Amino acid sequence: MADLNISSKNKRIIVLSGASNPAGRCVLYVMSRDQRTRDNHALLAAQTEALEHGLPLAVVFVLQPNVNQRAKEHYRFLLSGLREIEVELAKKNIPLLVLIGDPKQRLMGCVTHLQPRSLYFDMNPLIGPKRLQDYIARQANCAVHAVDTHNIVPVWIASPKQEVGARTLRPKLHRLLADYLVEPPELVDHPIKWPGPIMPLAKLGQKIDKLLADLPSNGQTNLQILHPSGETAAWSRMNDFITYKLRNYAVDRNDPSKDGLSGLSPYLHFGAVSSLRVILEAKIAAASKPELQAGYETLLEEMVIRKELSDNFCWYNENYRNLSGAPTWAQNSLKSHISDQRQHLYNLKELEAAKTHDEAWNASQREMILSGKMHGYMRMYWDKKVLEWSPSPEAAIERLIYLNDFYSIDGGDPNGYVGILWSVAGLHDRPWGERPIYGNVRSMVYSGLKRKFDIEAYIAHWAI
Ligand code: FAD
Repeated sequence: MADLNISSKNKRIIVLSGASNPAGRCVLYVMSRDQRTRDNHALLAAQTEALEHGLPLAVVFVLQPNVNQRAKEHYRFLLSGLREIEVELAKKNIPLLVLIGDPKQRLMGCVTHLQPRSLYFDMNPLIGPKRLQDYIARQANCAVHAVDTHNIVPVWIASPKQEVGARTLRPKLHRLLADYLVEPPELVDHPIKWPGPIMPLAKLGQKIDKLLADLPSNGQTNLQILHPSGETAAWSRMNDFITYKLRNYAVDRNDPSKDGLSGLSPYLHFGAVSSLRVILEAKIAAASKPELQAGYETLLEEMVIRKELSDNFCWYNENYRNLSGAPTWAQNSLKSHISDQRQHLYNLKELEAAKTHDEAWNASQREMILSGKMHGYMRMYWDKKVLEWSPSPEAAIERLIYLNDFYSIDGGDPNGYVGILWSVAGLHDRPWGERPIYGNVRSMVYSGLKRKFDIEAYIAHWAI
C-alpha cells in the first residue's frame, strides 16, 4: 500500500485516479457497501465536489445477483432497503440509478453516457470491489476516489500494515478515536436538478423481482430473514438496543439462550447504519447512565476493535478466503495433524441439512438456515466442529464460507472471513495446547457450552 494517495483535504478519501474531467457534467457516487443516506462520507464527499462546481449529483448502484453464492432472500432485503434510499435521496434532489448486470460494463457505460467530472466509491477491502474500482480508475476519463465510511478510523489511517491481532490494533485505534469519532455533516438539499429522466426503482424492482423469481432456487427455501431492511429499521434496531440491551450487553452477549445481542450486523453489513452512528449514540447514552458503561466498553471492543481488525486483515491480505492467510504456526500445526483420524466425517449436504450427531451444532445450523443469522457465540462452535468433521482444514474453510455467505444475511463480509480463519486456523489468536486435528489451534467442546449457558434451551428453541 506504499503508493496509496490519501487526499490531503480528507483522510477518509484515497485518490485512485487524479485524471480530472473539467468538462464533466455531473458527480457520481457509486454506492455499494454503505447503503444509506445519513452519515455516509462517500455521498457527502461527492456532494461537496458537486456543490463546489455547480453540478448535479446522482447515486449509482449496480446489482448483479448471484444465487449460487447468496440466497435470493438476501437480494429482497437489499432491494427493499434501496427503495427507501431512493425515496430519501429524491427528497434531496438526488436521483438513484440502479443498473443490473456486469459492474465493469455497466459502470463504464454510465461514465461514457453521463460524463462525470468525478466518481466516488465507498471503500471495500474485498478483492472483487477493489479490482473493480482500480479498473474504473484506469479506464474512466474522470477523477476516481474511494472513501472509507465503513470504519470509524479509515483502514489506511488505522494502520499501514496487517496487524497481528486485536492487541496490536487496539492501542492504535484508541489513540485515533478522538479524531474520527465525530458527528458527520448532514446531506443538504442538492440545489442543482438532475437534467434527464430516471428509471424509477419501483419499475426496475418489478424486473428484478421477476429476474430473481426466474432464477433456480439453490439450497434451502425455508429461509426467512427476520430483520426488516432499510435505514429506518436499522435506526430503530439501534435505538432499541441502546435503550433496552446495552445495560446487560457485556454479560448477555455470550449467552445464545438469551436475546442479548444488538442484532445490528445485517444493517452494518449492508451499511444501512454506520458503526460511527451506533458508537456516537451509545457514548451519549452511557455518559449520562453509569449502568451502561460496561456495555459501552464491550461494544467498543466488538464494533470498533474486532470489526475494524477484520477490515485491516482483508485490506492487507488477499488470502482471507484460504488457509494461506493463517499464521504460519497454525498452518504448520494443522498440516502436521492432517492424517489424524476423524471420528465423524460429514459431506456438505449433510452439514447443510443439519444432519450431524451433535444437536447443539444442528441447532445452530438450523438457526442460520431458518432465520438468516446465527448467534455469535455459536458461530465459533459451529466453525470449529466443521474443522473436526472435514477431510482437511482447506475443505472446512471452503464449506464454511459457502454456508455462511449463502445463508447469513451478514455474510460475504470481512467479519465472516476473519471469523472463519480465526476459528479454523488461529488467525489473530495464539497457539494453545496441542490436540488431535486442531493441533495448536484453540478447540471448543460441547461440555464447554454446557458450562457457559443453557444449551438445552437453545437446542429446544431451534428444534424443528
Ligand atoms: P453483537 O455482539 O451485537 O455485535 C455488534 C457488532 O460488533 C457486530 O454487528 C459486528 O459488527 C461487531 N462484532 C461483534 N463480534 C465481532 C467479531 N468477532 N468480529 C468482528 N466484528 C464483530 N460477523 C459479520 O458481520 N458477518 C459474518 O458473516 C460473520 N461471520 C462470522 C463467522 C464466525 C465463524 C465467527 C466466529 C464470527 C463471525 N462474525 C460475523 C462476527 C460476529 O459473530 C458477528 O458480527 C455477530 O454475531 C453479529 O451479530 P450482532 O450484530 O447481533 O452481534
